[in-house]
Amino acid sequence: MKHIDEYRDKKLVDLLLKQIWETSKTPVRLMEVCGGHTVAIRKFGIPELLPSTIKLLSGPGCPVCVTGKSFIDKAIKLSKIPETIITTYGDLMRVPGSSSTLENERANGAEIRMVYSPLDSIEIAKEYPSKKIFFPGIGFETTSPATAVTVLQAKKEKLDNFFLLSAHKIMPPAMEMLIDDEVQIDGYICPGHVSTITGSGIYNGIVENFGLGCVITGFEPVDLLQGILMLVKQFESGNPKVEIQYKRAVKAVGNIKALKLLDEVFELKDDWWRGLGNVPKSGLKLKTEFKKFDAELNFQLNLPEPKEEKGCICGEILKGLKLPSDCKMFGKICTPENPVGACMVSTEGSCQAFYKYQL
Ligand code: SF4
Repeated sequence: MKHIDEYRDKKLVDLLLKQIWETSKTPVRLMEVCGGHTVAIRKFGIPELLPSTIKLLSGPGCPVCVTGKSFIDKAIKLSKIPETIITTYGDLMRVPGSSSTLENERANGAEIRMVYSPLDSIEIAKEYPSKKIFFPGIGFETTSPATAVTVLQAKKEKLDNFFLLSAHKIMPPAMEMLIDDEVQIDGYICPGHVSTITGSGIYNGIVENFGLGCVITGFEPVDLLQGILMLVKQFESGNPKVEIQYKRAVKAVGNIKALKLLDEVFELKDDWWRGLGNVPKSGLKLKTEFKKFDAELNFQLNLPEPKEEKGCICGEILKGLKLPSDCKMFGKICTPENPVGACMVSTEGSCQAFYKYQL
């Protein structure tokens, strides 16, 4: 428990809070764009500890939450092809599509299997050569390297029955689009896990083009408070820059091996984000040499993006415009047991984090 104790040390927490209260003079709005941060900030009650000058916003950091309903509809459509197995991470199972979920489809007889790694799909593809295996891949730079490895393995094994449905996304275009949007942001608490892969350079454009500070931050109370203090200091001194608070995990150059894998397998595409709509060059699709594994290219999957559930304000929450408690269904009709929208389904969703730690 060494690291847990160190980064939850009450004396350090008190010291950082004292420094934050002394430093913060001007109102500042700081956004996190990481589901892990959303949960940690709520779990440790960080907003209640800060002076009223600092407002924390939650952005589009939960991969399940930003993935559109049409992606679920496409996975369901694929599941209805005869002799098909869908392999998926568990957190996608309960995400609502336009009229069903993968969980419901499984109950109705579709062959849908939960996997812990996309590589499990390769083993299943080898075991059932007469079946088509589809892996719906979601997530940011943290999870996409594992999908890249899976595609390379499928190529190496000369598989003809493995397909990727990709909704993998990269973070910086969405962060930049939000700055132009109606929500006012003065600095980013940058995602710790994504940055272990990408390094810190991906945020340079946010500093250079928009003048916003970026601090890559860890997930414990001391991490979060230190990251906030670094951003407040930058803001008060008018000196925005990219800094790494989470130095024990993130190097400026990132994970070069993982970045090479991503570059080998994927290229950028325009992609749809819940709350933001179409974000240019924010998604990952397979490069031409891997097109035999691309579910979008090999199957008729052109489906429109359906409207959100009536009354669900998940999109506005993902932009930092509203809080889950602003939703009339929050905690009444919509709960983790009976989720209405994606933000309540995912353990990293704002609505579920609020439900668990704020009610
Ligand atoms: S509480 Fe439920 S219905 Fe309301 S915004 Fe969140 S996910 Fe949507």
